[in-house]
Amino acid sequence: MAESVTLENRRKPIIKQEIAFTIIHLLPLAAIWTGATLFDWMLCIALYLFRMFWITGGYHRYFAHKSYKTSRFFQFIIAFMAQTSAQKGALWWAAHHRHHHRHSDTPKDPHSMKLYGFWYSHVGWIIGPDYKETDYKTIGDFAKYPELVWLNKHYLVPPTILAIVVMALGGYFNGGDVMLMFTHHGFSALFVGFFLSTVITYHGTFSINSIMHKFGKQRYVTGDESKNSLWLALLTLGEGWHNNHHYYESASRQGFFWWEIDITYYGLKVLSWLGLIWDLKGVPNHIKYSKNKAHAKELAAEMKKEAA
Ligand SMILES: [Zn+2]
Ligand SMILES: [Zn+2]
Repeated sequence: MAESVTLENRRKPIIKQEIAFTIIHLLPLAAIWTGATLFDWMLCIALYLFRMFWITGGYHRYFAHKSYKTSRFFQFIIAFMAQTSAQKGALWWAAHHRHHHRHSDTPKDPHSMKLYGFWYSHVGWIIGPDYKETDYKTIGDFAKYPELVWLNKHYLVPPTILAIVVMALGGYFNGGDVMLMFTHHGFSALFVGFFLSTVITYHGTFSINSIMHKFGKQRYVTGDESKNSLWLALLTLGEGWHNNHHYYESASRQGFFWWEIDITYYGLKVLSWLGLIWDLKGVPNHIKYSKNKAHAKELAAEMKKEAA
């Protein structure tokens, strides 16, 4: 059980068992033989942004933190979209992330940079043997939906479908005919549009677990090493406001102030205007303007008095 893994019994990754993960990193290099078109590069950027949005708005802000509500149908769509990133099942992702918040920067944290260093917190814990399973107990509120459990078990279905669509788009836009998807027209789209953007999306996401617990500023006293960083917030569509997020994890926005750019939150707002999601949780003022939890309590009392 992931909960019982601590510093003492944690196992190192066995690189031999991680052939698929290594191959994914090498596949973009196959573009040396196929070449890459402007369309492939545009697709690479578009699929990075698309999947990063669903990772942060889906895996993270919905499944891990329930920061807004939606229908049973649309939550399946959210899980499917997030899983096109090939970061395993939504239930797997969210359950481990809940452990991270519960034990942030203590020995039971799956990926503490403070305790386990950069490489382990960035990628070692994912490819290591200790965190392969989904802790369904921790994610029981979503594990009661059989369609989500199915998708969690068959986590490669969404990225495979996306890869086929990418090849078809490559055939059409690079070669002029969908049927050319199995020629270099489709393969160059696959290597650059799909695999390269998958790898970049991996490391964008992983950097939140590693360097966001080391570099940047800490506005709130959270008892862990979480930090805020504008440039990482831009790269990860809002996840760089990580200290804000550790201070008040249930909010649908991680940029608490208007100048803290949080593109995922703007996307979620659009989905709410379309009626697809609702009840986006905000940040109360006593949290926003406080320095720590005791200060927040004081501010809440003051604000109550003023309102009375
Ligand atoms: Zn964190
Ligand atoms: Zn979180």
